[in-house]
Amino acid sequence: MDRLRCIICGNEAGNRLLQAREKMNGTLDAFDYLQCAACGHLHLATPVADPGAYYAKGYYSFHASRIPAWRRWLHRSRTSATLGGGTWTGHLLGRIKKPYYAYWLEKTGLRDGQRLLDVGCGAGNLIRILQCAGLECTGIDPFLPADSRTPEGVELRRADLMDERKAYHAILFNHSLEHVAHPHEMLRKAASLLEPGGCVVVRIPLADSFAFFHYGADWFQWDAPRHQNLFTRASFRKLAEQCGLRVDEAIDDSSKIQFWASEEYRRNIFHNSRESFGHNDRQTHFSKRQIREFGRWAEWLNRMGAGDQATFICRTS
Ligand SMILES: [Zn+2]
Repeated sequence: MDRLRCIICGNEAGNRLLQAREKMNGTLDAFDYLQCAACGHLHLATPVADPGAYYAKGYYSFHASRIPAWRRWLHRSRTSATLGGGTWTGHLLGRIKKPYYAYWLEKTGLRDGQRLLDVGCGAGNLIRILQCAGLECTGIDPFLPADSRTPEGVELRRADLMDERKAYHAILFNHSLEHVAHPHEMLRKAASLLEPGGCVVVRIPLADSFAFFHYGADWFQWDAPRHQNLFTRASFRKLAEQCGLRVDEAIDDSSKIQFWASEEYRRNIFHNSRESFGHNDRQTHFSKRQIREFGRWAEWLNRMGAGDQATFICRTS
């Protein structure tokens, strides 16, 4: 029976159905997921009629104010060394504090002026910064209200990856691949658009993590029904291989949010509610010390390879 078959490895034996509820907005609607007994992958077992209805209003709204000149200069200076160039000021600033994306950007081999495509870009906040840093960025997202261009010159298109024709040096899925129903066709298409030597960067939540085992249906990154596929390290590698890609680097990069947001779900405090720590850091659910501890636990889990998300750098095999 197809409904009980793993969409990644094809296994049918011993798979189980698990239920998770929508907790970001707090509708508590229930959804079934199939978990594969062989590779651990989970996927939404019953397609949702109108997935767009589960994205909060304003999720993709644009309040794109111009990035001030001094900040653009800072983005460019601090990232320049990662892009194979830079001034001594840039190298110095980069040593003081690396940009938050530097740890994966430096593994891509991207150089100043090369093209990057962000699939599922939302409002394009990350690529606006990367454009300031010297890359030629384009963002596509089928849920955007219209095509536009940001003040930094990033083209944002209401478009689907499957219609894309241009070649890119890097194609980024920044927490977007888990939202699609058919990850195979997306990743295969991305592989076909790569320039020689280019890479696909995939940032996703991972279900073979401490947070999934500990919190179960209250795991923040389960995010039913928006996350239609929850990968494990094994299921993602399998998918990449099936799409003509090999995983060159896997970097565990989970953070403290896996603890505080999941603890909130356990107490039925929904992520978009005013009570959540995400909107109100003066809340009283957690002490400052606890929040610091969550951060330390996340670092430890990353070192152990058990964090709840990772960044994969994939190249054509
Ligand atoms: Zn499987």
